[in-house]
Amino acid sequence: MFDSLSDGLQSAFKSLRGKGKLSEGNMREGLEIVQRSLLEADVSYPVVQEFMGHVTERALGKKVLLSLRPEQELVRIVHDELVSILGPVDPSIHLKKDGATIIMLCGLQGSGKTTTCGKLAQLLIEQKIKPTLVAADLQRPAAIEQLKVIGEQLGVPVYSEPDNKNPVQVCKNGVAKAEADGSRVVILDTAGRLAIDEELMAELERIDKKVGPDQVYLVVDGMTGQDAVNSADAFNKSLELDGVVMTKLDGDARGGALLSVKHVTGVPIKFIGTGEHFDALEPFRPEGMAGRILQ
Ligand code: GDP
Repeated sequence: MFDSLSDGLQSAFKSLRGKGKLSEGNMREGLEIVQRSLLEADVSYPVVQEFMGHVTERALGKKVLLSLRPEQELVRIVHDELVSILGPVDPSIHLKKDGATIIMLCGLQGSGKTTTCGKLAQLLIEQKIKPTLVAADLQRPAAIEQLKVIGEQLGVPVYSEPDNKNPVQVCKNGVAKAEADGSRVVILDTAGRLAIDEELMAELERIDKKVGPDQVYLVVDGMTGQDAVNSADAFNKSLELDGVVMTKLDGDARGGALLSVKHVTGVPIKFIGTGEHFDALEPFRPEGMAGRILQ
């Protein structure tokens, strides 16, 4: 897999002076090709710069240049560095020993929060755990209805208060009801906005403080590149995040934004969304992602 996925870089090396072979004379050129490839994959510039610092140090070592295939060695170094930055891996949902574990999902409108609620619920059902979903997105008119439909399809309870305009109260009441019903997990579907604004952040901070979720996952749209990174930075400054879910990686995006999101948040990428259906949620694997970014 690693060899075929790095085909793009390998063929880019063909443009190198000296018949596509890396040598001491053209290693810098080879490193520029790697840098270009990362920028094309949507990795943000400061992250690429830092990353290239590590790679350059290793690539200019004599061991690489004296190896039989220095190009392959360079791809391997880039791959290993990507895997190391994208890790560590932690794709499990950590449940408390007793009582209900509260998971809060946050993210911009359209990032895929409500859909991800359904996907996480499905994952838990597979582990014989029936969660309660709480409809706390009171901004997007159809969000409550959308969550109810998901609940019906999956056979899981959805707590909502259509006339209550206070998301903190809705979350608190939802958690109390879920606990009374013996639910082991409560998933809070919070509101997003089209862009980050103070009101959104203040609302999320209130929920965070007053409801005290055990885990806060940021949901980011993998198709939005640099916007995903900027929003991740803003959410990370307001909330103590525990993990990231990057959605819509079933599209063409090479997913370089994931590297930047990981860099700005420093929290594990837990899952990636690969479609609209409930089963389209995959545990994050750095190796697979590194191959995709390197294409
Ligand atoms: P929210 O506003 O954050 O709650 O976003 P939604 O959950 O309503 O998702 C917005 C749109 O993105 C919907 O049309 C979803 O079906 C779609 N969506 C969510 N996750 C994915 C994904 O992983 N892949 C694809 N292709 N579409 C997704």
